[in-house]
Amino acid sequence: MNVLVWRSLIRSPHRCMCTVTGSSSQVCHPLNYLDGQRVDPKCTQTFDLREPATGKSLRFVASSNEEDVDMAVRSARREFKAWKKFSGFERGNVLKKAANIIRMRSEELARTEVLDTGKPIYEARMDIAGCADTVDYYGGMAAGISGEFLQLSNGNFNYTMREPLGVVGGIGAWNYPFQMATWKSSPALACGNTFVFKPSPFTPLTAVMLGEIYKEAGLPDGCYNVIQGEGETGALLGNHPDVNKMTFTGSVPTGTKVMEACAKGIKHVGLELGGKSPCIIFNDSNLDNAVSGAMMANFFTQGQVCSNGTRVFVQNSIMGPFIAKIVERTKNMKIGNPNHEDTKVGATISEEQAMKVLAYVDIAKKEGASVLCGGERVVPEASLSGGYYMSPCILVNCEDHMTVVKDEIFGSVMSVLGFDTEQEVISRANDTEFGLAAGVFTNDLKRAHRVASELEAGSLYVNNYNVYPVGVPFGGYKKSGLGRENGPEALDLFTQVKSVYVEMGDVEAPF
Ligand code: NAD
Repeated sequence: MNVLVWRSLIRSPHRCMCTVTGSSSQVCHPLNYLDGQRVDPKCTQTFDLREPATGKSLRFVASSNEEDVDMAVRSARREFKAWKKFSGFERGNVLKKAANIIRMRSEELARTEVLDTGKPIYEARMDIAGCADTVDYYGGMAAGISGEFLQLSNGNFNYTMREPLGVVGGIGAWNYPFQMATWKSSPALACGNTFVFKPSPFTPLTAVMLGEIYKEAGLPDGCYNVIQGEGETGALLGNHPDVNKMTFTGSVPTGTKVMEACAKGIKHVGLELGGKSPCIIFNDSNLDNAVSGAMMANFFTQGQVCSNGTRVFVQNSIMGPFIAKIVERTKNMKIGNPNHEDTKVGATISEEQAMKVLAYVDIAKKEGASVLCGGERVVPEASLSGGYYMSPCILVNCEDHMTVVKDEIFGSVMSVLGFDTEQEVISRANDTEFGLAAGVFTNDLKRAHRVASELEAGSLYVNNYNVYPVGVPFGGYKKSGLGRENGPEALDLFTQVKSVYVEMGDVEAPF
């Protein structure tokens, strides 16, 4: 999320009064997108799409089978021949137009994202605005994608070209559906690849809208396709012999399967996986900022954020005041209908996920942690009784060996841990198989940089947390993933280098 975007959204007085419900076209129309059209897949097997806010079924969605996946990949392969010949400038123009259309349709996109995810509307607006910026950013970068020139002896020379990989397959998780579709497709398309995306079965709606937006912006039909489905559809895509790269966001176990499929086919692979990140608060930090940061590290999107700093390490000398402030502010967060302007906590994605989170709170209590607030199912109003609402939870008396401190929960459960020294907290913060993100709050400039350089994570925050300005690379160390999204690095990962040696003299052969 871009903080500047956030501020401008908060100040913006003009908003269309658009509503998106279960009977809206975004939900009722076909949800596969092939050759520039919404289409129904061949498969008759379906899955139930439920609205997290109410728990009610929105519709049944057909799960794409082998034939559907193959049609999408063939369409992307066919169009690749033409799209790769567009200049970077031309491709960039399409993306920049798409970014503007996203901005024009932002309220509709945000409302659809709320319907799909259950996240509060204020957050969905921030997400969509950030996605428009990302598509714009790669639109601007496209014209500059180029190789290098190397002068050699005797007038000979070599040049390199950055060429697209071919057909890129994308698979997404459910917490940031439109963001995953845009963060993956826009750099892929900017580089001249074509794209087939499988969204999470929990959140199929906005990826199809992105297809329509790209088409309106001038993207040739077949360059961006969507296949809906569950794990089997994802496996079909990852194993398809004509896919050149997979870019995946999801859990470590599924990421391992995607990587295995790519290993079999010697395909490029990018993995954005889970985390259990530390947020470290030293006693010299501004306490109000540190409390705000710890809340931002835990409570966006009902805690279902991969980069969350769920292990909050607080220097023991400020533990009392820190706890008093954070508990007070957390209790004040409004839990409610995600479409309401003042809601700060919406619905968990599914009943299964909510039960999993509540079970972790129980395990924490059994292992000796104490609940200071939250960790309970909530019914904000009678009409939402089927939804999956939970109060954000703060746990104290936590220890490093506890299940709740080790596992990625993917819910609003903050574990507060005390520490005394810098060296101690660095070693404890790094004692995890994950390495997605980490935060440090301190007013000591040298310590901030010293600790940031010691922490084993791909995204570091000093005196803030979970901010994602456009252009800043994002990705994990250790089991949190491979590769980077959202920055210039992504362009390297969606291209391959062709090296061309040019002889200007005669060939001197030894035989
Ligand atoms: P998941 O791994 O269960 O599913 C992710 C996607 O993979 C879904 O679209 C699913 O249908 C698909 N899938 C399932 N089995 C598959 C298979 N065998 N082959 C191919 N695809 C398959 O994850 P989730 O529950 O949707 O999301 C939560 C996880 O995602 C958390 O671990 C979270 O940390 C992670 N995540 C990471 C990032 C990041 O950028 N690092 C961002 C968001 C979420």
